[in-house]
Amino acid sequence: MDLQTLDTTLADLGQPAFRAKQVWEWTSRGVASYDAMTNVPAEVRSELTARVPFSTLEVTNEAHSKDGTVKALFKTVKDGRPVEAVLMRYRDGRRSLCLSSQSGCPLTCTFCATGTMKFGRNLTVSEILDQALHFRRIEEVDHVVFMGMGEPMMNLDNVLEACRRLPDVGVTHRRTAISTVGWVPGIERLTESDMPIRLALSLHAADEALRSKIMPVNDRYSLASVLEACDRFYEAKKRMVFIEYVMLKGVNDSYAQAVQLADVLDPKKYKINLIPYNPTGSYDGSGREAIAAFKAALEEHGIGATIRLTRGQDIDAACGQLAAKALASAS
Ligand code: SAH
Repeated sequence: MDLQTLDTTLADLGQPAFRAKQVWEWTSRGVASYDAMTNVPAEVRSELTARVPFSTLEVTNEAHSKDGTVKALFKTVKDGRPVEAVLMRYRDGRRSLCLSSQSGCPLTCTFCATGTMKFGRNLTVSEILDQALHFRRIEEVDHVVFMGMGEPMMNLDNVLEACRRLPDVGVTHRRTAISTVGWVPGIERLTESDMPIRLALSLHAADEALRSKIMPVNDRYSLASVLEACDRFYEAKKRMVFIEYVMLKGVNDSYAQAVQLADVLDPKKYKINLIPYNPTGSYDGSGREAIAAFKAALEEHGIGATIRLTRGQDIDAACGQLAAKALASAS
């Protein structure tokens, strides 16, 4: 729900200051309507039902994968912008949410479905939280990654304010990760933040020229300057930075490229996550063997890597896929 509208409406109704807190407590624990909030007077509940939509997002599509992954496509109540979020369920019981920070994305990473969509706008704090709350109403959740649509560091005020409230939803700061293309001012601000949030960097190529080709933002913030900012993050927080590396066949998956990657990363500070490419048209993904060989080459050169499980491939769960498809079929 729009927490600002909630505040002004409660003030308008002459309600005491603690009322908003009560409403948030119920909401953050996953109730589905104002009616369930039994310590809020009935007349206030019915006013809220009439005046403050329970969510700032409306579900337009929900896809369930065979592996338990659930992907929701929403539109903003305010202006109908597409937003997507994913719930991943793991065998060890972990429940991880992948949230969006923007509708669309102004950056144009060439392998990413969101990058091919027109940029919409930054999401509000409530629009970010409402993605998490949608899934919280299904079950308890304990991890969040900002790896949905958008570049979280370009909407960092709202992302951080949403993070402040995530512990109420069940997700501690330590179990929250912000993923970035390498937006240096954002990395610097996260370094200064009092919240112990994890940093993930989408690296994808250790070579400046290649990285600029597949991620044009590299022309603005070179990999060298991004890694310096990540080093400072590590020094300040003493928390390892996760490196995301999407495996593109014949583009960034050679032995020499693995060696180069191992050379630029200090294994004390960085952990590499190799991501099988979820095909969205423009590239072919590296095969299983190529990914395993790349991992072996990294290890041979002193740095560990994990291969990310692909999740929800049968439901287009890759970044931007669902929203991009919905837009294509709507236009
Ligand atoms: N803008 C931020 C967060 C959103 S993308 C960032 O770039 O980090 C989250 C991750 O998904 C990024 O690492 C991105 O490179 C990756 N990604 C995007 N499209 C993908 C695809 N088709 N297959 C696999 N990973 C993809």
